[in-house]
Amino acid sequence: MNKQRAWRRPWISLLCGAVLLCGGARAAGQAKPLAGADVPQIYERLLKQIDRIPIYDNHSHATFPDDSDMDAMAAPPGESSVLRLRDDNPEFVAAAKALFGYPYGDFQPEHAKWLVGKKKAAEASGNTTYWDGILDKLNIETCLANRVALAPYLNPKRFRWVFFMDSVMFPFDNSSQTAKNGDMGVYVPLQEKVLQRYMKQGGVSGLPSDLAGYEEFVRRTVRDNQKKGGVAMKFEAAYFRSLYFSDPPREKAEAIYAKYHAGGVPSEDEYRTFQDYIFRVLVDEAGKRHLPMHFHSAVGIGDYFSMRNGNPLNLENVVRDPRYSNVNFVLIHGGYPYTLDMIWMTAAKNVYTDSSLMGYYVYPSELKRILKQWISLFPERMMFGSDAFPFNDAVGAEETFWLASRSARTAIAAALAELVSEGAFSEQKALELARMYLHDNAAKLYGAQP
Ligand SMILES: [Zn+2]
Repeated sequence: MNKQRAWRRPWISLLCGAVLLCGGARAAGQAKPLAGADVPQIYERLLKQIDRIPIYDNHSHATFPDDSDMDAMAAPPGESSVLRLRDDNPEFVAAAKALFGYPYGDFQPEHAKWLVGKKKAAEASGNTTYWDGILDKLNIETCLANRVALAPYLNPKRFRWVFFMDSVMFPFDNSSQTAKNGDMGVYVPLQEKVLQRYMKQGGVSGLPSDLAGYEEFVRRTVRDNQKKGGVAMKFEAAYFRSLYFSDPPREKAEAIYAKYHAGGVPSEDEYRTFQDYIFRVLVDEAGKRHLPMHFHSAVGIGDYFSMRNGNPLNLENVVRDPRYSNVNFVLIHGGYPYTLDMIWMTAAKNVYTDSSLMGYYVYPSELKRILKQWISLFPERMMFGSDAFPFNDAVGAEETFWLASRSARTAIAAALAELVSEGAFSEQKALELARMYLHDNAAKLYGAQP
């Protein structure tokens, strides 16, 4: 201990004494562990204001159900669904009533065709007013659309494109990847299709002859997608492999590329090493282009999704790497069920998360619990996301937009009402925090409209 600190000690003791003497006055200001009986009234007041906040949706798949560009992957057949997303959830009927005045109380085929007909007619009209109207009804101002390509029926002023980049990690013979399990049998051929599409887009007829050529193709694809309006790049890598990316030297990747670009099946180790290297190229390009990187970072669909591989803590070595401090990482779906780990990942200034997917996997009471924890820690890093997605021809992205946005507005109002009642902060501060979650954090991250 140095002399200066020893000299300061009596003053610190005096200060502590003064604080203790003032303890009575301070006690009234300390938050309580139990909320009071006023929670329902505070909730009603807050919800009225929160309903007026225009939403900036960090993640959706705005789409008609027959449009295969809605995602770079598809659900494997027969996958199990959580309770809330099953066809008989009465909330979906409530959504269809609120959005379209659906006159029935269930989705029996003879009833559902009323709704399917309405949506088919909107799709046939081909204009953008339909989806703008859905956003207007839900007070969603802007929405990121994570799709293989932005659809002509989506207004680019309201729907901003997030493109997929996993496909460039699958340039070789993928037969051993595809054969791993039934899920990979569905996912990997779809990645190959996206890669083919990017090669066509880039005017490339076959794989370049060396790694330098392939890297240039990868970087050019990112730049082209950004020019087409892309505001972020998305990775569904958690479905295919571990989110842990090592940092292999270029020579290793170069040798693997030379060995397999013209044919042959790489070993598991070789493929992973190559993917780790190309991933690092993408992170570098994301930094140069100021493009946030989105990651699926939660449980996933399918029967073979690895919880261990998909755990967002796997990304710690990347998001905490000072070389990438210029890259914004957005770990979507809140890392669910690792939501507490997730919010601590966002302690770094360039890491964000959102409540997409889990906002409709769980009911609002559970979402409230998670949002209460998050907003008490790093409110600048959390965003709303709907993960709006069509489940069938009747229950579409429209109904999931409704379910996700209603759940989030009510859950954040309830979380904040409890905190206000517990004495954590004022109602005014609560509304400020709600605006950050529902709109401002995302608006700041993605900047002004193009
Ligand atoms: Zn999604």
